[in-house]
Amino acid sequence: MGPPGAGKGTQAQFIASHLSVPKISTGDIFRANVSGGTELGRQAKQYMDRGDLVPDEITIAMVRDRLSEDDARHGFLLDGFPRNVPQAQTLKKMLDAEWGAKLDLVLELVVDEDEVVRRLSGRRTCSQCGKIWHVDWDDKKDDICDECGGRLFQRDDDREDVVRHRLEVYQEQTAPLVSFYADEGILVGIDATGPVEEVTERALEAIRRFRG
Ligand code: ADP
Ligand code: ADP
Repeated sequence: MGPPGAGKGTQAQFIASHLSVPKISTGDIFRANVSGGTELGRQAKQYMDRGDLVPDEITIAMVRDRLSEDDARHGFLLDGFPRNVPQAQTLKKMLDAEWGAKLDLVLELVVDEDEVVRRLSGRRTCSQCGKIWHVDWDDKKDDICDECGGRLFQRDDDREDVVRHRLEVYQEQTAPLVSFYADEGILVGIDATGPVEEVTERALEAIRRFRG
């Protein structure tokens, strides 16, 4: 977890691949449904465009379906879910009741608001492979993905007014999860400033320490 722009998607790519588990990003699944023109996408779009959370019922049903897929049987990394206390409570009950499982660890990416705004304003995503780039730090002069040749796009919700609202939504609804998971004894906060590789190393070190 961490505010919009903290680097969750970026770090999730590396951590999931290191742990050989699927990365389950609710934002990515919603965006794929919006661009695919599905009923789920149609329902989610109005909330996403405003920077509001998609209703819990829709989001939880989608996560339940995704967690039921075969590749999640031996572990998974959630990115962007849960995003409020009711989602966290439902996730806990659902993991226990349906799979006899529980979350091992919650990583909080800690970064200040100025940095988050800088990161979001330059964020670009590959329309083909989903890789996340930054115009300044990755020195992107063109709109082409260096990994797969796909075209990069700027997310509609990375506009300044929507970003401001998403940060408020984070403070009001998602930040309370820090104490929720601290009380559960599974929260580890890491400094998410500095180069991407250094943050990844801090995250992996936290996972290793936690596993003992
Ligand atoms: P960010 O990268 O800014 O953290 P995401 O890609 O995770 O954003 O999410 C983009 C949008 O998708 C959110 O603003 C929200 O509308 C919707 N969304 C993603 N995850 C959830 C969730 N767990 N609950 C409700 N809405 C969600
Ligand atoms: P989130 O999923 O938390 O919203 P992203 O992973 O999409 O955040 O990152 C937001 C933007 O910041 C992207 O453009 C990404 O390339 C950039 N970014 C991520 N981590 C770092 C970092 N450690 N230093 C500089 N830029 C970063």
